Amino acid sequence: MRNLLALLALLTTNNLLAATPPDGIPRELARQRAAQLSDVRYHLRFTLTPRAPSASGHEDLQFRSSSSAPVLLDFREGTLANLVVNGVAVPPKIENGHIELPAGPIHAGENTVSMDFTAPVATAGKAITRFEDKDDNTEYLYTLFVPMDADMAFPCFDQPDLKGRFHLELTAPENWTTISNTPSESQSPAGAGQRVTIFAETRPISTYLFAFAAGPFRKVHETAGLPGLYVRQSKFKKAEEEAAEVQQISGQGIDYLSKFFAQPFPFPKYDMVMIPGFAYGGMEHAGATFLREESILFRTAPTHSDHLNRDILLLHELTHQWFGDFTTMRWFDDLWLKEGFAQYMAYHALAALKPGENIWKRFYQSIKPAAYSIDSTKGATPIYQSIANLKDAKSAYGAIVYSKAPGVIKQLAFVLGEENFRDGLRLYLKEHAYANAEWSDLVHAFEKVSGKSLQDWAAMWIRHRGMPQVDVTWTCDAQNRIDHFSLTQHDVLGEGGIWPVAMQIELAYPGGGPTRLRAQLNTENVGLPEAAGKPCPQYVFLNDQDFAYGRFLLDERSRKAVVDHLGEVNDVFERTLLWGSLWDSVREADLAPRDFLELALRLLPGETDEALAQNLIGHVTTSLHRYVSEAVRAQIVPKAEVLASDRMLHSAEQDFRIIWFRGLRAVAESPEGRAQIKDLLNGKLAVPGVDLRPLDRWTMVTALIALNDADADSFLAAEEKRDQSGDGQKYAYLAKAARPEAASKQKYFNDYLHDPSRPEDWIEQSLGSFNYWNQSELTLPYLKPALEALPQIKRERKIFFVLGWLNAFIGGQQSAVAQAEVHEFLSAAPLDKDLQLKILEVSDELDRTVKIRQRFP
Ligand SMILES: [Zn+2]
Repeated sequence: MRNLLALLALLTTNNLLAATPPDGIPRELARQRAAQLSDVRYHLRFTLTPRAPSASGHEDLQFRSSSSAPVLLDFREGTLANLVVNGVAVPPKIENGHIELPAGPIHAGENTVSMDFTAPVATAGKAITRFEDKDDNTEYLYTLFVPMDADMAFPCFDQPDLKGRFHLELTAPENWTTISNTPSESQSPAGAGQRVTIFAETRPISTYLFAFAAGPFRKVHETAGLPGLYVRQSKFKKAEEEAAEVQQISGQGIDYLSKFFAQPFPFPKYDMVMIPGFAYGGMEHAGATFLREESILFRTAPTHSDHLNRDILLLHELTHQWFGDFTTMRWFDDLWLKEGFAQYMAYHALAALKPGENIWKRFYQSIKPAAYSIDSTKGATPIYQSIANLKDAKSAYGAIVYSKAPGVIKQLAFVLGEENFRDGLRLYLKEHAYANAEWSDLVHAFEKVSGKSLQDWAAMWIRHRGMPQVDVTWTCDAQNRIDHFSLTQHDVLGEGGIWPVAMQIELAYPGGGPTRLRAQLNTENVGLPEAAGKPCPQYVFLNDQDFAYGRFLLDERSRKAVVDHLGEVNDVFERTLLWGSLWDSVREADLAPRDFLELALRLLPGETDEALAQNLIGHVTTSLHRYVSEAVRAQIVPKAEVLASDRMLHSAEQDFRIIWFRGLRAVAESPEGRAQIKDLLNGKLAVPGVDLRPLDRWTMVTALIALNDADADSFLAAEEKRDQSGDGQKYAYLAKAARPEAASKQKYFNDYLHDPSRPEDWIEQSLGSFNYWNQSELTLPYLKPALEALPQIKRERKIFFVLGWLNAFIGGQQSAVAQAEVHEFLSAAPLDKDLQLKILEVSDELDRTVKIRQRFP
């Protein structure tokens, strides 16, 4: 039996290689290589030349093979020469993104391969990206390989579970700074104004975590013991102002996480490199996190929340050094293992480092709505997402891993208890140091330390899509005591799932503290006997402190009480959760958006929490622009404008003046509202004590253009004259995308699909202006072409682009006509499964909008 199996395995292996190499990296190829190969070492030399369309390189690759079977290397888009395998010259052929190292030269034991190669460099669409700094006419190059683009830059085994040690030599202009995963070991002149930097060999890391950046970067504040921070030279002064805070929170994070995980920082150094226009908020390359410069050096006047969100980003990327880089998922189907934990632990760490900040309330605000809004759609996937080929790994990214996974992890920590949770993480990291693991390894670690079985829990929360809605039924007797209290759950998607849900229930009483009950719901219905006999509460809320994951709407009696008394709820976390529940009712077409609007506008002036106020202003804006009729909008907008303007000018706290400025800019629509925006731009009006920054100004210009204000063009011209920086050129491009003219839309849409030189972040950030909320008639003709372009978009763009694209084009629509068009496209077009799911995910909001507008005309 055993021999037969081995023979079968061999046959399968040979079959895999006999035919044309497969497209991308199928799971089976990855499995077979991980079984055959080990001890991978890459010696890489890159020569970086300014303005050149490619980088040239040389690679010496070593690995152990358990057999003499041929080996496939991954390499897309570059050129290859001088391929030598164990001393034997082999034709340097790239076929379908792979290089075959044939049986013959390949043998069991140590193997050495050497080759010369070139890899493309461009402003968009390649693994090595060029940023041209228009402020000082310099250029910067950086790599971004996740999830499988390392093989666009050099030949490699581009799968996360074939970790390699990298030894990098970079030749670049001598006035450039080069940064990679490890410290540089030496630098020497290479003639003709060039210099070679040799970096220390890395620990074993996955290919997607290897990186370098090069250009006239400058290091900000050389403070011993704190992480390094690099910035392009034209932003050096700005970076100096922000550096202390950034480096400090990262340094504190390293101390906190090292202790929490009982595992010292796993790499020889930690640097952060700010990259303008970077495709993500950050990318956690081992020892060298790259950060989107705009997320660190604020482009708008920042609030306290903006600072805390930056902390979260920094701690998220930092957590990855352990969760992702030190212990890596075996395959991208377990992406949540790294993203869910990085997100959860960022809040966990910040709650410990800044205990006065009510961080778990922020977790609820930032994390849960995104999770619930995808998990209640037919586009939802389980947290564990099966990925047959790495070329589809991009689709795994989204709210399921970034928002649902941390939400579910919070629930797990509540179920296990804080100590078991921590010990489980410690065990998991210890058992998989510098190696790979799967979700089941983590579940086993938790089971081992807690002695609890988590199989049922994992089956529903990790392997099953969707979420429960939990409802309560309660009554009180003549003595004003609870005489009945029971919970039921149903599957939001109607697919019949029953979830194990652990929650803390609040019984609220006027003028007194609440009573809290812990409940466990493992079946469809459960009674809660311990509630019986308690005094009759004013209202009941099922997810006190947000420990559970699911939809928790207020029962009718509670909702009425909450609407009447929300202004008296002193606890800000509780208030935030109640507002959240009311907003869920709006989105369920259960509560009239007009009622929500009126309540929000009535209570907002008294709201003392900046983050909650900002949230509510956001809901007000969404309700006005999407959910209510034009007639209702026309009645409410002037009130909202007056309130926003008043609070912008007269709030005692600066943070409130900033968020109300943003609110005014978002809702201003009437001639009076627009006049205020113009006065802010021309200096007749100011937000007291606040220096508006360039992006604040550009967003106002964009609004004037989108609203077709008669003075828009002159304000645009003035702003273009005033801000001629590189950023300014980008913002002007974004602003003009809002032009309410068919010809302009046509030009932009062509750009999006056919101009390879346009930086990706310009396009990504202009999609919202193109699809401005008031221009749905003008943009409707682009809905179908935008959907038809999805396969191209998915192939050519970075990870989050597809979602941004769909959210902009579908999100720009509110009508039943648009809804029908999307669903018609879905049923007719031959799309791959994951694009179908993405459309279903995003179109849910359009479905809701149509439903809300029909229900509350
Ligand atoms: Zn991450």
